[in-house]
Amino acid sequence: MHNDFWKDIGQKTPELIDSIFRLSRRSCISITRLDTKVTWWSEKAVDLFGLDGSYSKFAEEKTDLKVHKDDLEMYRKGFADRFRGKDHEFPIEYRVMLNDKSYTRFSARTMFMYDNEGKPVTLITMFIKHDILEDIDSVTGLHTEEVFTKKIKKYIKEKNGAVLLKIGLDRFCNINVIYGSEYANKVLHNVAEKLTEIVGKKAEVYRLSGAKFAVCFDSISQEKLAEVYSRIMRAMSNDICIDDKKVPLKISAGAVLLEGYMDDANSVKSRLTYALDMSRHEHHGGLVMSNDSFSTNGSDEIELISVIHQCALKECEGFFMSYQPIVEASSGDIKGMEALVRWKKEPYGLVPPGVFIDWLEEDPCIFELGNWIIRQSVKDASEVLRQKPEFFINVNVSAAQIERCEFRETLLGILDDYNFPHEHFCIELTERCRMLDIGFLKSEIEYFKSRGIKVAMDDFGTGNASLNVVLELPVDELKIDMSFVRDIKNKPFNQAIVESIVSFANTTNLEVCIEGVENEEVREYLSKFNADWHQGYHYSKPVTIENIKSML
Ligand code: C2E
Ligand code: CA
Ligand code: CA
Repeated sequence: MHNDFWKDIGQKTPELIDSIFRLSRRSCISITRLDTKVTWWSEKAVDLFGLDGSYSKFAEEKTDLKVHKDDLEMYRKGFADRFRGKDHEFPIEYRVMLNDKSYTRFSARTMFMYDNEGKPVTLITMFIKHDILEDIDSVTGLHTEEVFTKKIKKYIKEKNGAVLLKIGLDRFCNINVIYGSEYANKVLHNVAEKLTEIVGKKAEVYRLSGAKFAVCFDSISQEKLAEVYSRIMRAMSNDICIDDKKVPLKISAGAVLLEGYMDDANSVKSRLTYALDMSRHEHHGGLVMSNDSFSTNGSDEIELISVIHQCALKECEGFFMSYQPIVEASSGDIKGMEALVRWKKEPYGLVPPGVFIDWLEEDPCIFELGNWIIRQSVKDASEVLRQKPEFFINVNVSAAQIERCEFRETLLGILDDYNFPHEHFCIELTERCRMLDIGFLKSEIEYFKSRGIKVAMDDFGTGNASLNVVLELPVDELKIDMSFVRDIKNKPFNQAIVESIVSFANTTNLEVCIEGVENEEVREYLSKFNADWHQGYHYSKPVTIENIKSML
């Protein structure tokens, strides 16, 4: 079939092939003749997708056997359209099972070549494997956090007094919410350019998660660093312009001078994060050097975080689950529970999640820890279910979990392992999840709902995401944040908020849970609102699973 494949594809064929081969080092490529529907696959594509040869006929190839079943329809439709000559601006995004049986996300970007009459004759497809892209941030073109981490490891090996600077844009979420993500991306892009310009060739700039950047200096004196940082601060407040309009940005920053005893990249990153937090909260954005500030109680916290982090990597050592009853508001009866993680180890004692969850959420280990939490909670809940079949469990899920494409299967797999009824499991989307791309979040919620799993929006009413956007998400339940409930009897504004959320939920058939019901007075006051569920110390603090069983 390949002898006349290249015939009359175009005079530029040799050049084209040449550039394709150059491209295919970073991704793989295929070319399809739209007349015969024969496809040529680059060597790397043959290898990656495990094809029989370089040529295949559309709809006969084996590639779609390897496409994840939930993406198959979209994948087939995407290609069928294109094979008919229909142009699409967006790539086809889907998951493929590779030879080692793991799924990897691919984007297939396509482009037509036309004949002299303007009719499409060939379709060129570039398959981009996402783990390759993850080295480069698509918004700013800078290296990503992964590369930054590798660089820290390299510095640690060489122990040469390098200096790391971590910069955060303050309240950047507001820009996202008010002007939208496209505008926010333009700002990030400009910030990246400005930073690169200021630090020059002496240092490299990285994009970290969210609106944070890092700069690595092979070596720099403290005075020089302070001078560079004040130039950066000035530039951020004066020189960032979008569409000819000035966007004044406020920043904060923390830095670390690598010293011989720092031998672990994660604890170096924790130090940076801590120094940045100190800068933001206690120094109005002034540069904080971690090396100076950790002699007091700060260092205890850093040490604690890095011990907890190590434990998360060691099969979740020291972590355990507590459960807080969720009661029916009208009767006060316990109908379900929320799973809340804790950590305990001597000599540190018991540590609540507020101390470590935010930190761990920035680390890849949260995925494993999150899975451990789900498994433990489902296991415990399935025992309760034997005693009380209508019982349900809510589990908090972080953005870093939802974001991973394996999350869907992992969760379903755990529920399967325990034969746990899907309708009795509810995902609580914590506030930070709402910072994810809203379209993506919507599709994940829809997927879980289609499998019977419930989804609740946690801490409703707080955070940076715009309410209109949040209300578009197809969740089953809203959990009203405790901050509106505390001292509600004396706070008319909070009364109005709780009342309107409850009545909104009632008219749209959403369930609603009021959290933080701390005493009888508050319970009594709240009883006039028609909420479905209550949760709070008044009913019970978080307790062990044994306590839950004996309460029922
Ligand atoms: P959250 O999901 O809003 O959980 C409710 C928190 O409020 C819990 O704190 C609970 O102990 C506390 N609480 C419950 N009733 C009352 C009350 O009447 N008064 C007061 N003042 N507090 C009450 P906890 O366990 O410290 O958890 C804090 C946060 O940490 C959680 O907030 C959640 O965002 C996060 N978190 C907890 N467990 C997990 C987890 O397994 N995974 C993830 N990703 N996040 C978790
Ligand atoms: Ca929660
Ligand atoms: Ca909550």
